[in-house]
Amino acid sequence: MAELSPNLKQATGVVAARGQGALLWDEDDRRYLDFTAGIGVTGTGHSHPKVVAAAQEQVAKIIHAQYTTVMHRPLLDLTERLSEVLPSGLDSLFFANSGSEAVEAALRLVRQATGRPNIIAFHGGFHGRTVAAASLTTSGTRFRSGFAPLMAGVHISPFPDPTHYGWSEAEATTFALNQLDYTLQTMSAPADTAAFIVEPVLGEGGYVPGNAEFFAGLRERADRHGILLIVDEIQTGWGRTGEFWGGDHFGLRPDVITTAKGIASGFPLSAIAASEELMSKAWAGSQGGTYGANAVACAAALATLDVITSENLVANARERGAQLRGALERVAADHSAITDVRGLGLMLGNEFRDADGRPDGATAARAQQAAAERGLLLLTCGPWGQVVRFIPALVVTEEQVTEAGQIWAEVVQAVL
Ligand code: PMP
Repeated sequence: MAELSPNLKQATGVVAARGQGALLWDEDDRRYLDFTAGIGVTGTGHSHPKVVAAAQEQVAKIIHAQYTTVMHRPLLDLTERLSEVLPSGLDSLFFANSGSEAVEAALRLVRQATGRPNIIAFHGGFHGRTVAAASLTTSGTRFRSGFAPLMAGVHISPFPDPTHYGWSEAEATTFALNQLDYTLQTMSAPADTAAFIVEPVLGEGGYVPGNAEFFAGLRERADRHGILLIVDEIQTGWGRTGEFWGGDHFGLRPDVITTAKGIASGFPLSAIAASEELMSKAWAGSQGGTYGANAVACAAALATLDVITSENLVANARERGAQLRGALERVAADHSAITDVRGLGLMLGNEFRDADGRPDGATAARAQQAAAERGLLLLTCGPWGQVVRFIPALVVTEEQVTEAGQIWAEVVQAVL
């Protein structure tokens, strides 16, 4: 009998049978508060009725209309509607299926457009598991070990992570920008550098927000040297952080944006957006794919956009995020092992450290497991797995956040 790869590890023992909003039931009909949302995917909640209806309607019309063979209405409509939310000037779109594919598409574009080979990514970033995307990923060696050589032409420069360096945000930012200049002076000359790629908030790397000064510094250097700025909004986009894009918190102005996860409420869909001028520099035939912009996924994305707007989900992420943060901070105040509560909107992390101040993945894992046993699904992140993260659907209610906060208080009490 065939079995799943033993390498495919699950964070919880749950076999999901059905879900609704921020709730999920297993096959024994046990109810869980799902504060994982499919790793930040189901922003409108599980099986939102409007997303379900749009997908069902589309399934009955046409499922697959391959977009380099024939065009389909949901893709045309989605492309047009995305101008409502995309940063101004980013008016040209290419669609694929996964976040990693969007990152690869962005890489191809910036290299072809500039004729330059190198990419500078930032330490702790996660950009995907395909070989090129893994080459840019430094949130943990597990994503890049054992299948080298990775893609050449990648340089890694520090991200302003105050907790990691043990400095103030201002100190970490000065350091990160100085090191970037050093990298451009010593390793990747501007004339060889096609792009910077950066997350507004390090996601898998431990839920570390960037800051306005750092991003302004990146933008200034990009403009000065003709380097393009790719902002990876795959985890931070679609309202997750309490703004539509994570970069909106910092006035971040991308040349290329990558998006996926929240875009289609769980259907596989991703995209890159750039100015038409930049996108037209992609070489002929370099953008395509069998499944990209699947018609059902595009219909679901249109419904997702409607739901986010009509239910004010970005504002809800902000309000429920503030409520959740308050609850997490109250727990942390009573337990010195939780050394930091951080993040934006409904993208919040709790960092665990041991008595010597070292990242404590073992305790974070015990807390995550104990929470699942008590009916609260959570994930860990961070290089050592030392951060327990909360990423519920944007439809999460005040009562559900209160309940999650109570369970978390019990869990931390029990494991510490
Ligand atoms: N970029 C970021 C910021 C991500 O968080 C992820 C997924 N966690 C990816 C890229 C890769 O996306 P996917 O898993 O869909 O390939």
